[in-house]
Amino acid sequence: MNYHSIPDCSHKKAYETEARAKQVARHQEQQRPGLSLRVYYCEGCGSHHLTSQP
Ligand SMILES: [Zn+2]
Repeated sequence: MNYHSIPDCSHKKAYETEARAKQVARHQEQQRPGLSLRVYYCEGCGSHHLTSQP
């Protein structure tokens, strides 16, 4: 396997399921008004991450 092809996401929080990721995203949005988080599936690690980018 060529590790250069894997996105660098080791520094990000990874969630096993989309449902769990959305749960955390909602919580963080409540903590920080104006924040809008999106859940996306990462093929690099097979988990879900959160991003504030569109
Ligand atoms: Zn990842």
